[in-house]
Amino acid sequence: PYDVLVVGGGPAGSSAAIYAARKGIRTGIVAERFGGQVMDTLGIENFISVKHTEGPKLVASLEEHVKEYGVDIMNLQRATRLQKKDLIEVELENGAVLKSKTVILSTGARWRNVNVPGEAEFKNKGVAYCPHCDGPLFEGKDVAVIGGGNSGVEAAIDLAGIVKHVTVIEFNPELKADQVLQDRLNSLPNATVVTNAQTSEITGTDKVNGITYIDRATGEEHHVELQGVFVQIGLVPNTEWLGDTLERTRFGEIVVDNHGATDLPGVFAAGDCTDSAYKQIIISMGSGATAALGAFDYLIRN
Ligand code: FAD
Repeated sequence: PYDVLVVGGGPAGSSAAIYAARKGIRTGIVAERFGGQVMDTLGIENFISVKHTEGPKLVASLEEHVKEYGVDIMNLQRATRLQKKDLIEVELENGAVLKSKTVILSTGARWRNVNVPGEAEFKNKGVAYCPHCDGPLFEGKDVAVIGGGNSGVEAAIDLAGIVKHVTVIEFNPELKADQVLQDRLNSLPNATVVTNAQTSEITGTDKVNGITYIDRATGEEHHVELQGVFVQIGLVPNTEWLGDTLERTRFGEIVVDNHGATDLPGVFAAGDCTDSAYKQIIISMGSGATAALGAFDYLIRN
Protein backbone atom coordinates (compact mmCIF):
# COMPACT_ATOMS: atom_id res chain seq x y z
CA PRO A 1 0.00 0.00 0.00
CA TYR A 2 0.90 3.65 -0.30
CA ASP A 3 1.64 5.82 2.71
CA VAL A 4 0.06 8.77 0.91
CA LEU A 5 -2.21 8.51 -2.11
CA VAL A 6 -3.11 11.82 -3.71
CA VAL A 7 -6.30 11.93 -5.81
CA GLY A 8 -6.14 14.85 -8.25
CA GLY A 9 -3.19 16.24 -10.20
CA GLY A 10 -3.69 20.01 -10.21
CA PRO A 11 -1.58 22.50 -8.21
CA ALA A 12 -2.95 21.20 -4.88
CA GLY A 13 -2.26 17.53 -5.69
CA SER A 14 1.18 18.21 -7.18
CA SER A 15 2.20 20.21 -4.13
CA ALA A 16 0.86 17.53 -1.76
CA ALA A 17 2.70 14.77 -3.65
CA ILE A 18 6.03 16.65 -3.54
CA TYR A 19 5.71 17.46 0.16
CA ALA A 20 4.83 13.83 0.94
CA ALA A 21 7.55 12.29 -1.23
CA ARG A 22 10.17 14.55 0.34
CA LYS A 23 9.46 12.78 3.63
CA GLY A 24 10.75 9.57 2.02
CA ILE A 25 7.38 7.84 2.22
CA ARG A 26 5.60 5.86 -0.50
CA THR A 27 3.55 8.34 -2.49
CA GLY A 28 1.21 7.94 -5.44
CA ILE A 29 -0.83 10.45 -7.40
CA VAL A 30 -3.82 9.52 -9.50
CA ALA A 31 -5.38 12.12 -11.79
CA GLU A 32 -8.05 12.21 -14.42
CA ARG A 33 -6.07 14.93 -16.19
CA PHE A 34 -2.74 16.02 -14.78
CA GLY A 35 -2.59 19.81 -14.47
CA GLY A 36 -6.29 20.34 -13.78
CA GLN A 37 -7.76 23.78 -14.42
CA VAL A 38 -4.31 25.22 -15.06
CA MET A 39 -4.30 23.36 -18.39
CA ASP A 40 -7.21 25.60 -19.47
CA THR A 41 -5.55 28.86 -18.44
CA LEU A 42 -3.75 31.12 -20.85
CA GLY A 43 -2.00 33.90 -18.97
CA ILE A 44 -1.14 33.61 -15.28
CA GLU A 45 0.15 36.79 -13.65
CA ASN A 46 -0.55 36.19 -9.96
CA PHE A 47 1.60 33.15 -9.25
CA ILE A 48 3.91 35.07 -6.95
CA SER A 49 7.56 35.37 -8.02
CA VAL A 50 6.64 34.52 -11.63
CA LYS A 51 5.57 37.72 -13.40
CA HIS A 52 3.92 35.95 -16.30
CA THR A 53 3.47 32.36 -17.35
CA GLU A 54 1.03 30.23 -19.27
CA GLY A 55 -1.05 27.32 -17.96
CA PRO A 56 0.47 24.46 -19.97
CA LYS A 57 3.96 25.79 -19.20
CA LEU A 58 3.27 25.82 -15.45
CA VAL A 59 1.80 22.29 -15.70
CA ALA A 60 4.98 21.08 -17.44
CA SER A 61 7.07 22.47 -14.55
CA LEU A 62 4.71 20.90 -12.00
CA GLU A 63 5.08 17.53 -13.68
CA GLU A 64 8.84 17.86 -13.91
CA HIS A 65 9.02 18.72 -10.22
CA VAL A 66 6.78 15.78 -9.18
CA LYS A 67 8.88 13.43 -11.35
CA GLU A 68 11.98 14.56 -9.50
CA TYR A 69 10.84 12.29 -6.65
CA GLY A 70 9.82 8.64 -6.69
CA VAL A 71 6.12 9.42 -6.99
CA ASP A 72 3.91 6.90 -8.86
CA ILE A 73 2.00 9.02 -11.35
CA MET A 74 -1.22 7.44 -12.63
CA ASN A 75 -2.59 9.88 -15.19
CA LEU A 76 -5.89 9.61 -17.08
CA GLN A 77 -7.47 7.61 -14.26
CA ARG A 78 -10.70 8.67 -12.61
CA ALA A 79 -11.49 7.77 -9.01
CA THR A 80 -15.08 6.64 -8.50
CA ARG A 81 -15.25 5.47 -4.88
CA LEU A 82 -13.54 5.95 -1.52
CA GLN A 83 -13.90 3.45 1.29
CA LYS A 84 -12.26 3.11 4.66
CA LYS A 85 -11.44 -0.44 5.71
CA ASP A 86 -8.15 -1.35 7.45
CA LEU A 87 -6.60 0.86 4.85
CA ILE A 88 -8.26 3.52 2.74
CA GLU A 89 -9.30 2.20 -0.63
CA VAL A 90 -9.79 4.25 -3.76
CA GLU A 91 -11.57 2.55 -6.61
CA LEU A 92 -10.89 3.69 -10.17
CA GLU A 93 -13.24 3.76 -13.14
CA ASN A 94 -11.29 0.88 -14.71
CA GLY A 95 -12.06 -1.32 -11.68
CA ALA A 96 -8.60 -1.18 -10.08
CA VAL A 97 -8.46 -0.54 -6.33
CA LEU A 98 -5.59 1.48 -4.82
CA LYS A 99 -4.84 1.08 -1.13
CA SER A 100 -3.17 3.60 1.13
CA LYS A 101 -2.65 4.50 4.77
CA THR A 102 -3.66 8.09 4.08
CA VAL A 103 -5.40 9.80 1.17
CA ILE A 104 -5.27 13.44 0.08
CA LEU A 105 -8.26 14.53 -1.99
CA SER A 106 -7.45 17.34 -4.41
CA THR A 107 -9.98 16.87 -7.19
CA GLY A 108 -10.54 20.59 -7.72
CA ALA A 109 -13.61 22.26 -9.12
CA ARG A 110 -15.17 23.40 -12.37
CA TRP A 111 -16.90 26.66 -13.26
CA ARG A 112 -20.52 26.24 -14.24
CA ASN A 113 -20.97 27.33 -17.86
CA VAL A 114 -23.89 29.39 -19.22
CA ASN A 115 -23.88 27.22 -22.33
CA VAL A 116 -24.76 29.91 -24.84
CA PRO A 117 -23.23 30.37 -28.31
CA GLY A 118 -19.88 32.17 -28.03
CA GLU A 119 -18.99 31.05 -24.52
CA ALA A 120 -16.73 28.15 -25.48
CA GLU A 121 -15.50 29.88 -28.64
CA PHE A 122 -14.31 33.01 -26.82
CA LYS A 123 -12.92 31.40 -23.64
CA ASN A 124 -9.68 33.26 -22.90
CA LYS A 125 -10.64 35.68 -25.70
CA GLY A 126 -12.89 37.85 -23.58
CA VAL A 127 -14.85 35.18 -21.75
CA ALA A 128 -13.42 34.77 -18.24
CA TYR A 129 -14.34 33.12 -14.97
CA CYS A 130 -11.95 34.53 -12.40
CA PRO A 131 -12.00 38.28 -11.61
CA HIS A 132 -8.87 38.03 -9.39
CA CYS A 133 -7.02 36.42 -12.29
CA ASP A 134 -8.27 38.23 -15.37
CA GLY A 135 -9.77 41.49 -14.06
CA PRO A 136 -6.65 43.58 -14.83
CA LEU A 137 -6.75 42.45 -18.49
CA PHE A 138 -9.92 44.52 -18.90
CA GLU A 139 -8.62 47.79 -17.49
CA GLY A 140 -10.57 50.71 -18.98
CA LYS A 141 -12.90 48.41 -20.94
CA ASP A 142 -16.58 47.56 -20.74
CA VAL A 143 -17.51 44.18 -19.30
CA ALA A 144 -20.51 42.18 -18.14
CA VAL A 145 -20.86 39.79 -15.24
CA ILE A 146 -23.37 36.99 -15.72
CA GLY A 147 -24.88 36.05 -12.37
CA GLY A 148 -26.22 38.19 -9.54
CA GLY A 149 -25.44 35.97 -6.57
CA ASN A 150 -22.73 36.81 -4.04
CA SER A 151 -19.86 35.84 -6.32
CA GLY A 152 -21.31 37.75 -9.29
CA VAL A 153 -21.90 40.94 -7.30
CA GLU A 154 -18.52 40.68 -5.55
CA ALA A 155 -16.93 40.26 -8.98
CA ALA A 156 -18.79 43.30 -10.30
CA ILE A 157 -17.70 45.48 -7.35
CA ASP A 158 -14.12 44.27 -7.78
CA LEU A 159 -14.17 44.86 -11.56
CA ALA A 160 -15.79 48.30 -11.24
CA GLY A 161 -12.54 49.52 -9.69
CA ILE A 162 -10.58 48.46 -12.78
CA VAL A 163 -12.83 48.56 -15.84
CA LYS A 164 -14.70 51.45 -17.42
CA HIS A 165 -18.17 50.00 -16.93
CA VAL A 166 -19.68 46.77 -15.67
CA THR A 167 -23.15 45.38 -16.40
CA VAL A 168 -24.51 42.66 -14.14
CA ILE A 169 -26.93 40.32 -15.88
CA GLU A 170 -29.20 38.30 -13.60
CA PHE A 171 -31.69 35.68 -14.81
CA ASN A 172 -34.11 36.06 -11.89
CA PRO A 173 -36.28 39.13 -11.24
CA GLU A 174 -34.01 40.06 -8.31
CA LEU A 175 -30.34 39.79 -7.39
CA LYS A 176 -29.63 37.02 -4.90
CA ALA A 177 -26.53 38.60 -3.38
CA ASP A 178 -26.44 39.82 0.24
CA GLN A 179 -28.06 43.23 0.70
CA VAL A 180 -24.78 44.90 1.78
CA LEU A 181 -23.19 43.81 -1.50
CA GLN A 182 -26.19 45.01 -3.51
CA ASP A 183 -26.07 48.38 -1.72
CA ARG A 184 -22.38 48.69 -2.43
CA LEU A 185 -22.91 47.81 -6.10
CA ASN A 186 -25.79 50.27 -6.43
CA SER A 187 -23.60 53.04 -5.04
CA LEU A 188 -21.09 52.67 -7.86
CA PRO A 189 -21.36 55.14 -10.75
CA ASN A 190 -20.04 52.71 -13.37
CA ALA A 191 -22.18 49.66 -12.64
CA THR A 192 -25.57 48.77 -14.13
CA VAL A 193 -27.81 45.90 -13.10
CA VAL A 194 -30.14 44.13 -15.51
CA THR A 195 -32.52 41.63 -13.91
CA ASN A 196 -34.95 39.12 -15.39
CA ALA A 197 -32.60 38.74 -18.31
CA GLN A 198 -31.60 35.57 -20.10
CA THR A 199 -28.23 35.68 -21.80
CA SER A 200 -28.68 34.26 -25.28
CA GLU A 201 -25.29 34.82 -26.95
CA ILE A 202 -21.78 36.14 -26.44
CA THR A 203 -20.85 37.78 -29.71
CA GLY A 204 -17.50 38.52 -31.29
CA THR A 205 -15.21 38.02 -34.23
CA ASP A 206 -11.73 37.00 -33.08
CA LYS A 207 -12.59 38.14 -29.55
CA VAL A 208 -15.67 39.21 -27.61
CA ASN A 209 -17.45 42.36 -28.83
CA GLY A 210 -20.79 42.08 -27.05
CA ILE A 211 -23.49 40.19 -25.26
CA THR A 212 -27.10 39.54 -26.21
CA TYR A 213 -29.85 38.94 -23.67
CA ILE A 214 -33.60 38.54 -23.74
CA ASP A 215 -35.75 40.59 -21.37
CA ARG A 216 -37.83 37.79 -19.87
CA ALA A 217 -40.77 40.08 -19.14
CA THR A 218 -41.21 41.41 -22.68
CA GLY A 219 -39.35 38.82 -24.77
CA GLU A 220 -37.38 41.68 -26.31
CA GLU A 221 -33.78 41.08 -27.35
CA HIS A 222 -31.04 43.52 -26.28
CA HIS A 223 -27.40 43.75 -27.30
CA VAL A 224 -24.66 45.47 -25.28
CA GLU A 225 -21.28 46.23 -26.83
CA LEU A 226 -18.41 45.26 -24.54
CA GLN A 227 -15.05 43.52 -24.50
CA GLY A 228 -15.32 41.05 -21.64
CA VAL A 229 -17.80 38.68 -20.02
CA PHE A 230 -17.24 37.15 -16.58
CA VAL A 231 -19.36 34.08 -15.95
CA GLN A 232 -20.18 33.85 -12.24
CA ILE A 233 -22.92 31.28 -11.88
CA GLY A 234 -21.13 28.86 -9.61
CA LEU A 235 -17.97 26.89 -8.98
CA VAL A 236 -18.80 23.22 -8.54
CA PRO A 237 -16.38 21.01 -6.58
CA ASN A 238 -15.52 17.63 -8.15
CA THR A 239 -16.65 15.70 -5.09
CA GLU A 240 -19.90 14.01 -6.17
CA TRP A 241 -18.11 10.64 -6.23
CA LEU A 242 -17.51 10.83 -2.47
CA GLY A 243 -21.20 10.63 -1.54
CA ASP A 244 -21.47 10.91 2.21
CA THR A 245 -18.26 9.12 3.14
CA LEU A 246 -17.08 12.40 4.66
CA GLU A 247 -18.44 15.80 5.59
CA ARG A 248 -19.13 18.21 2.77
CA THR A 249 -20.83 21.62 2.82
CA ARG A 250 -24.20 22.11 1.14
CA PHE A 251 -22.23 23.25 -1.92
CA GLY A 252 -20.36 19.93 -1.96
CA GLU A 253 -17.06 21.32 -0.69
CA ILE A 254 -15.03 19.01 1.56
CA VAL A 255 -14.81 20.38 5.09
CA VAL A 256 -11.20 20.47 6.37
CA ASP A 257 -9.52 21.66 9.55
CA ASN A 258 -6.31 23.67 9.71
CA HIS A 259 -4.24 20.50 9.16
CA GLY A 260 -6.16 19.75 5.98
CA ALA A 261 -7.89 16.84 7.76
CA THR A 262 -11.44 15.77 6.90
CA ASP A 263 -13.75 14.12 9.43
CA LEU A 264 -12.69 10.68 8.13
CA PRO A 265 -9.44 9.76 9.94
CA GLY A 266 -6.51 9.44 7.54
CA VAL A 267 -8.27 11.34 4.77
CA PHE A 268 -7.10 14.87 4.01
CA ALA A 269 -8.10 17.36 1.35
CA ALA A 270 -6.69 20.44 -0.35
CA GLY A 271 -7.40 23.05 -2.99
CA ASP A 272 -10.59 24.03 -4.81
CA CYS A 273 -12.48 20.88 -3.74
CA THR A 274 -12.44 22.06 -0.11
CA ASP A 275 -14.30 24.76 1.79
CA SER A 276 -11.33 27.14 1.53
CA ALA A 277 -12.50 30.74 1.27
CA TYR A 278 -10.67 31.55 -1.95
CA LYS A 279 -9.74 29.44 -4.96
CA GLN A 280 -6.40 30.26 -6.55
CA ILE A 281 -3.29 28.41 -7.72
CA ILE A 282 -1.08 29.73 -4.95
CA ILE A 283 -3.71 28.98 -2.31
CA SER A 284 -4.20 25.43 -3.63
CA MET A 285 -0.48 24.78 -3.51
CA GLY A 286 -0.29 26.04 0.07
CA SER A 287 -3.17 23.86 1.16
CA GLY A 288 -1.63 20.86 -0.66
CA ALA A 289 1.50 21.33 1.43
CA THR A 290 -0.60 21.61 4.59
CA ALA A 291 -2.52 18.42 3.78
CA ALA A 292 0.70 16.47 3.10
CA LEU A 293 2.26 17.62 6.36
CA GLY A 294 -1.03 16.79 8.12
CA ALA A 295 -0.98 13.29 6.59
CA PHE A 296 2.66 12.80 7.62
CA ASP A 297 1.83 13.86 11.16
CA TYR A 298 -1.05 11.38 11.16
CA LEU A 299 1.24 8.57 9.92
CA ILE A 300 3.82 9.06 12.66
CA ARG A 301 1.10 9.02 15.32
CA ASN A 302 -0.81 5.97 14.07
P1 FAD B 1 -7.71 21.60 -10.19
O1 FAD B 1 -6.75 22.48 -10.88
O2 FAD B 1 -9.15 21.69 -10.57
O3 FAD B 1 -7.21 20.10 -10.37
C1 FAD B 1 -8.02 19.01 -10.04
C2 FAD B 1 -7.34 17.71 -10.42
O4 FAD B 1 -8.15 16.61 -9.98
C3 FAD B 1 -7.17 17.50 -11.91
O5 FAD B 1 -5.99 16.77 -12.15
C4 FAD B 1 -8.40 16.66 -12.27
O6 FAD B 1 -8.24 15.91 -13.47
C5 FAD B 1 -8.43 15.73 -11.07
N1 FAD B 1 -9.70 15.06 -10.79
C6 FAD B 1 -10.95 15.58 -10.67
N2 FAD B 1 -11.84 14.62 -10.36
C7 FAD B 1 -11.13 13.45 -10.28
C8 FAD B 1 -11.46 12.10 -10.00
N3 FAD B 1 -12.70 11.72 -9.70
N4 FAD B 1 -10.47 11.16 -10.01
C9 FAD B 1 -9.18 11.51 -10.29
N5 FAD B 1 -8.81 12.79 -10.57
C10 FAD B 1 -9.77 13.73 -10.56
N6 FAD B 1 -5.85 30.83 -10.47
C11 FAD B 1 -4.83 31.67 -10.27
O7 FAD B 1 -4.23 31.70 -9.19
N7 FAD B 1 -4.41 32.50 -11.28
C12 FAD B 1 -4.99 32.52 -12.51
O8 FAD B 1 -4.60 33.30 -13.39
C13 FAD B 1 -6.08 31.62 -12.74
N8 FAD B 1 -6.73 31.60 -13.93
C14 FAD B 1 -7.70 30.69 -14.13
C15 FAD B 1 -8.28 30.62 -15.41
C16 FAD B 1 -9.24 29.67 -15.68
C17 FAD B 1 -9.83 29.60 -17.08
C18 FAD B 1 -9.66 28.76 -14.66
C19 FAD B 1 -10.70 27.70 -14.96
C20 FAD B 1 -9.11 28.85 -13.40
C21 FAD B 1 -8.13 29.79 -13.12
N9 FAD B 1 -7.53 29.91 -11.86
C22 FAD B 1 -6.48 30.77 -11.67
C23 FAD B 1 -7.95 29.06 -10.73
C24 FAD B 1 -6.96 27.90 -10.54
O9 FAD B 1 -6.77 27.26 -11.78
C25 FAD B 1 -7.48 26.93 -9.50
O10 FAD B 1 -7.69 27.60 -8.26
C26 FAD B 1 -6.49 25.78 -9.26
O11 FAD B 1 -6.19 25.11 -10.45
C27 FAD B 1 -7.06 24.79 -8.25
O12 FAD B 1 -6.16 23.75 -8.09
P2 FAD B 1 -6.60 22.33 -7.57
O13 FAD B 1 -5.39 21.47 -7.62
O14 FAD B 1 -7.32 22.47 -6.29
O15 FAD B 1 -7.71 21.81 -8.61
